[in-house]
Amino acid sequence: MALRESEARFRTFVDHATDMFMLHDDDGRVLDVNRNACESLGYRRDELIGVTALFFDLEMDEASWRINRERLKAGDIATLESHYRRKDGSVFPVEVRMREFCEGGQRQIISLSRDITERKRTAEIFREMQAELTRANRAAAMGQVTASVTHELSQPITAMLCNAEAALNWLGSLSPNVERAQRALASIVADAKRGGEIIGWIRSLIKRTPARKESIDVNVAIQDVITIARSELFKRSVLLQTDLAPGLPLVEGYRVQLQQVILNLILNAIEAMDCLDEGRRELRISTAADDSNGVVVAVRDNGPGFDAAMVDRLFEPFYTTKPDGIGMGLSICHSIIEAHGGRLWAGANEPRGAVFQFNLRPEQGDPRRDQQCGGAQSNWS
Ligand code: ADP
Repeated sequence: MALRESEARFRTFVDHATDMFMLHDDDGRVLDVNRNACESLGYRRDELIGVTALFFDLEMDEASWRINRERLKAGDIATLESHYRRKDGSVFPVEVRMREFCEGGQRQIISLSRDITERKRTAEIFREMQAELTRANRAAAMGQVTASVTHELSQPITAMLCNAEAALNWLGSLSPNVERAQRALASIVADAKRGGEIIGWIRSLIKRTPARKESIDVNVAIQDVITIARSELFKRSVLLQTDLAPGLPLVEGYRVQLQQVILNLILNAIEAMDCLDEGRRELRISTAADDSNGVVVAVRDNGPGFDAAMVDRLFEPFYTTKPDGIGMGLSICHSIIEAHGGRLWAGANEPRGAVFQFNLRPEQGDPRRDQQCGGAQSNWS
């Protein structure tokens, strides 16, 4: 009697739970469900009992299945994310927690599933906001740099134009005045030098940063950037492949700056592949140790690539082939990598597309750095 009462109490409790409770036998057949499971899936209780995988819409790979089964067998809680299909065919994401136990010599599995539609939506919104912020930051930073460069350079350029016209006039007149033409040309040289200094100053501004240098695991830094870029990659149907070498030496530097470089290269690659059909856009990010036991990072795409004759111009400020491009991205990346003692270079990807690579020195004192240095030739230039 007491047992029946406690069972009834348990049933009421389980029926009022906001999660879906299910009891399965060892083969996954449903033995019992609570009210929430019926309501969430749109089935009657008797339609669910005795069936296997009626509402499962699994996307789990073999390895995850095996790991979860092993956990269950070991008496641990297995947690997985999956999708359930309602009777009306609609699908929703769930988080499932399962535990195996023995009842009268029979193995049974109790599962508790929670609808995580809202959580997923919030995470997606958060990712989009992050991407938006990254884009906005990038645009704002570019906008600021452009405004200051434009302002600072307009004066010497105007002066050069005036002096060039004056020199032409002095030389082109019936009685050319070589001396005055020379003076005008000397002014042009001085203004050009000033323009060069302004660009140098802006470069140093970009390099200067109040942040602290830190030890960076390049692979982790890349993974963080990928998290930020993931929704953009998904939206633009870009397939990402990573090939991150384990056991790389740590590098010393400014994490955010290096992440900006990686993000910029990824965004450039995504933009370059916009002209390809969906399903053919492939981005590959790899890391490796180089000859000097530093780290090389490569970002490859299979877009149209670039004209080999233009390879050096890519890193010049304001060089762009995009209708709405600013042409500062690669130039800033170049300065950042140089300030870290490394080199950024571009080449053709095989069989098509572009590859942008940079190398970074190993951190001084990193125990992993001396392992394979030997007499290897240094790549730092
Ligand atoms: P922006 O992209 O704003 O034009 P960047 O400095 O980022 O400026 O790039 C300069 C130019 O380099 C681009 O306009 C483009 O012509 C070329 N470029 C950059 N990345 C790639 C790439 N992955 N594939 C082909 N060309 C590229």
